[in-house]
Parts: sequence; structure tokens; C-alpha cells
Amino acid sequence: MTSTTATTYYYPNRMGRIILLSMEEVMGRNGVNAVLNLASLSSLIENYPLDNNEPGFSFPTVSSLTENLEQLYGPHGGRGLALRIGRACFNYGVRQYGVQMGLTEMAFRLLPLPAKLNAGAAAFAELFNKFTDQKVRIEEEDGRLLWHIERCPLCWERHATEPVCHLAVGLLQEALYWLSGGKVFNVEEKTCIAVGDPTCTIVIDKTPIY
Ligand SMILES: [Zn+2]
Repeated sequence: MTSTTATTYYYPNRMGRIILLSMEEVMGRNGVNAVLNLASLSSLIENYPLDNNEPGFSFPTVSSLTENLEQLYGPHGGRGLALRIGRACFNYGVRQYGVQMGLTEMAFRLLPLPAKLNAGAAAFAELFNKFTDQKVRIEEEDGRLLWHIERCPLCWERHATEPVCHLAVGLLQEALYWLSGGKVFNVEEKTCIAVGDPTCTIVIDKTPIY
């Protein structure tokens, strides 16, 4: 057997589209095009994936976007942009997936905050686990939620000295802001597969900062 077929993992087209639209919102069309060119993804310029559930947006494509964002804007600038892109992704995503996740139902909206955070995190994790090749596991520990990304597109095949999945941090920050009706929580990526850790783990304090 000489077969060495590498498994490729995917996001659905819809999520790829959401990422690119969010980048455009934050960086403008020229900024997105510059990243796409640098990432050798110019075929996506003015040609975003369709709004459907076909698994067409590969993990290498996702990580190439985050990596080239940093190439173009430097680690610090790239991080700031990735956080903002992540926040924009949530706002596009909740329009597309919110009903499906039950997040817009009255029963959900009326839950007290701690229960709402738990239920929201579970629904959000299930969305990734069910509809994408990203794997997420949630753990609770001392008033904190641990969002373990066990298979992560953002840093797929990347090597770094610090955690790099800032887009996921921004996404979760905005999800918490939305779930809590405008509160801000401490959200931090503590470990990252790109650094050599077994998971990309984002720690969420369940007590808001303000
Ligand atoms: Zn990661």
C-alpha cells in the first residue's frame, strides 16, 4: 500500500463566505484582495463561495487566510484585525444559523445568564461538530468555560510561538456579548495546536468584566 491520501477537512461554503464577507467588512475589499493574493487564493477574489452547506472551504484555506493576514499586517496588527473579523463572523453567523441553533427562541432568551451561557456554548459547539469538520468540546472549571478546539481550521498546519486563533476569540467574545445582552467577558486563548499543544483552548470567565 503506497496510498498516502491526506484527509482534507472542510468548513461548509456558507462559513467560508461568512469569513470573507467579515474580512471585507473589517478591511475593505482591497484588504481582502491583498490577503487572497498573498495566500495564492486569487481564485476567490470577487468569487466568494456560495451560500450553501457544501463542504467546499478547506481547513488549509482557512489557516492560509489567518497566516497571511499576519504576514501582511504583522503579528500585532493581524491579531487586532482577526479579533474584529471574528466578531463580524458571529454577527453574520447568527443571522444564518441563529434560528437553527434555537438561540432566537423566547425560552432560550429568558434563561438566567449562567444557564444561557452554558446552553449557548453547547449549541454553538454542536453547530461546529455537526456541520463542519471542526471539533469542539466544552468543559466547565471553576466558573470558567473551556472551549477546546480539538481539530482547528484557524491554525491548521501552522507553527507558531504563541496562540494564533484570534478569530475564534473574537467570535466567542461577540457571542458572549450577544448572549448576555451587552456584557463583556474575559476571553483568552491559553493553548494552541500551532504551538504544539494538544488543543486550541479558549478560556472564558463566566463572570463579566462589565
Ligand atoms: Zn487553533
